Amino acid sequence: SPVVVAIDGPSGTGKSSTSKAVAVRLGLGYLDTGAQYRAMTWWMLTNGIDVDDPAAVAAASAKPSIVSGTDPQNPTITVDGTDVSAPIRGREVTAAVSAVSAVPEVRSRITELQRSLAAEAPGGIVVEGRDIGTTVLPDADVKIFLTASPEARAARRSAELKGKEAADLATTKEALARRDAADSGRKTSPLAKADDAVEVDTTELTLPQVIECVVTLVEE
Ligand code: C5P
Repeated sequence: SPVVVAIDGPSGTGKSSTSKAVAVRLGLGYLDTGAQYRAMTWWMLTNGIDVDDPAAVAAASAKPSIVSGTDPQNPTITVDGTDVSAPIRGREVTAAVSAVSAVPEVRSRITELQRSLAAEAPGGIVVEGRDIGTTVLPDADVKIFLTASPEARAARRSAELKGKEAADLATTKEALARRDAADSGRKTSPLAKADDAVEVDTTELTLPQVIECVVTLVEE
């Protein structure tokens, strides 16, 4: 039967790279749920919605059509047919995404999309996010919670941004800490480890080691 893998944790833990590689290795689909929240945020900003007004965000949240392609070799995301994979990684979206994601109407709409994509995945799927094991797919076959020290996470995030929107390490660390605090502190399905998730601290591990560890946990 199809295997569903939930991988949660804050950013900078290697969540996306790990989830994609595990999906490729095991022949599963792949869903980046952060990209869906980023796409919703991109649409709000593009359409002049005040992202700091939860009522305005809630009222608009049903409008955009967000479509995710779940091939781990070529994950795609469109909003109303427009490819938004580049702009959703920009600084403006990153700064606004926690506020948009905290709005319950946004979460229920995107959670519904996530559940139907997981149910439709023929051989199974790896779903990465913040609340997958706790809220979106509480019956997932395998639940992983990735962590890393704040220093390791900031260093990885900096390396990712290199050339594009690189800031110094201290600024990156501060921005990450701010987003984590918002994601962990919101009332509706915050960033959290499920009781039955296996926690993997990636601070001292290379990416291939993390991948190997997760593959082993899925195959057990
Ligand atoms: O994983 P990524 O950093 O792209 O996620 C962007 C943001 O989307 C997070 O900071 C969080 O606010 C939101 N998010 C969420 N729930 C998820 C995945 C992401 O609230 N399952």
